[in-house]
Amino acid sequence: MKLVIAQMKHETNTFSPVPTPLARFATGAEVPPEGDAAVSAYRGTGSAIAAFIDLAEAAGAEYTVPIAAAAWPSGPVHDAAFEYIARKICAAVVQGCDAVLLDLHGAMVTQSLADGEGELLRRIRAIAPDVPIGVALDMHTNLYDAMVDHSTVIAGYQTYPHVDVYETGLRAGKVVLAMLAGKARPTMAAGRAPMLPHVMRQGSDDSPNQELQARCREMEAQGALCASLFVGFPNADIEFAGLSAVVVTDGDPALATRWRDELLAMAWEKRQAFVYRIEPLAESMARAKALADAKPAGSGPVVLLDHSDNCASGGTMDTMTVLGAMLDAGLDGAAAFAIYDPAAVQQMIAAGVGAGITLALGGKLDMPAIGLKGEPRTVTGRVKLVCDGRFRNYGPMGRGEQVDMGPTAVLDTGKIQIVVISDHVEPHDLAAFTAVGIAPERCRYLMLKSRVHWRAGLRSLAHAVVECAGTGVCSSDYALLGLHKVRRPIYPLDPM
Ligand SMILES: [Zn+2]
Repeated sequence: MKLVIAQMKHETNTFSPVPTPLARFATGAEVPPEGDAAVSAYRGTGSAIAAFIDLAEAAGAEYTVPIAAAAWPSGPVHDAAFEYIARKICAAVVQGCDAVLLDLHGAMVTQSLADGEGELLRRIRAIAPDVPIGVALDMHTNLYDAMVDHSTVIAGYQTYPHVDVYETGLRAGKVVLAMLAGKARPTMAAGRAPMLPHVMRQGSDDSPNQELQARCREMEAQGALCASLFVGFPNADIEFAGLSAVVVTDGDPALATRWRDELLAMAWEKRQAFVYRIEPLAESMARAKALADAKPAGSGPVVLLDHSDNCASGGTMDTMTVLGAMLDAGLDGAAAFAIYDPAAVQQMIAAGVGAGITLALGGKLDMPAIGLKGEPRTVTGRVKLVCDGRFRNYGPMGRGEQVDMGPTAVLDTGKIQIVVISDHVEPHDLAAFTAVGIAPERCRYLMLKSRVHWRAGLRSLAHAVVECAGTGVCSSDYALLGLHKVRRPIYPLDPM
């Protein structure tokens, strides 16, 4: 048995000014890893591709990994990057194989395509019409028909924060292996609901997504080969952004259809609970201060969530609105993760550890798609630490995966320790803080540029959380984003 195993992952925020060339998929190298380098980069980690590798090895299968390409979310993927990755995968399939296992995202938009994954799958299907194709997808998939038409089995994450990525790889891969062994006849039913859930209301610990994902797991316990409810990624102005479901059954298309319809109806019923109400920033800041003043001694930090500028949703990670409000309010005993500003890092490295420095921090990137200019903020402090910015995640999200935030420095204003980084990294893992010598549990306030993923590794430390609406391309304000290409009518843009 011979398998082709590959990864092509990118969540595209079509409003993001952050470019997505091939190098963004290569973490410090010129091109993404392939072959043995790809295997050693991911083996033993919490990724879906690691699950495919484990399954192949346990089955004694021969396998090739033509490429493992994952990039932090950002603007549309450059056509040349997509072509490079797709060509590598197709070239491996041309060599002949019994099955293809793909670790994809499901919300990749390129300069030319609204559905990068669908195009990749179409090309693979054209080369190998009868070869089973198993696909692991992120819960933020914006499902296009081509993804379903040109694959055999789809499994999506059932958690947000995404802590079941490896298990998702197992779910998709096991069905394909069972099919090759003549023990399963997968049949898929897929569909969309006309709704655009706000990301801030999508957490799988919260209702209604908690119940939706629980029902998916129940369907799998009742015989579905895979059941997936995708909440979708709304910061993408494309026709089929939004919620969808895919159910795979063993040779029973009617049951797959019935379960798909049940999931979509359940989500539609709860559509109002997926709407996020934005609190004005001044109110959030006052609430955070009151919470910190009232918290018992020894309790963890009040988390200020700068959710409009999360790099794991394509944010520039350099808007200064929330951090600026913290500075203006004189909040003390705080840490902030992080401001993306490679030039400021270089200034701090040049000044040296211990030096006093005044910087125009952040705000280097304009956001033309939402009509905003970058606005740096003058900050004075001391260079507390400089490091290479590399660490491995402790987990539970992205367990064991190598993370690289590039040259990194900590600016201490006396009241706030500001982590300044050169490559985008979302704070969802305690290791992001230990790598820069900060003990977040000791802080009075913790500012995080994150939306939901911070919960994975940091929520247990927090005394309270205050969601702060700052500035950025991850805004939950659909009117600010201006969604023009999404199909209409769609809730909540239309009352329905
Ligand atoms: Zn996601």
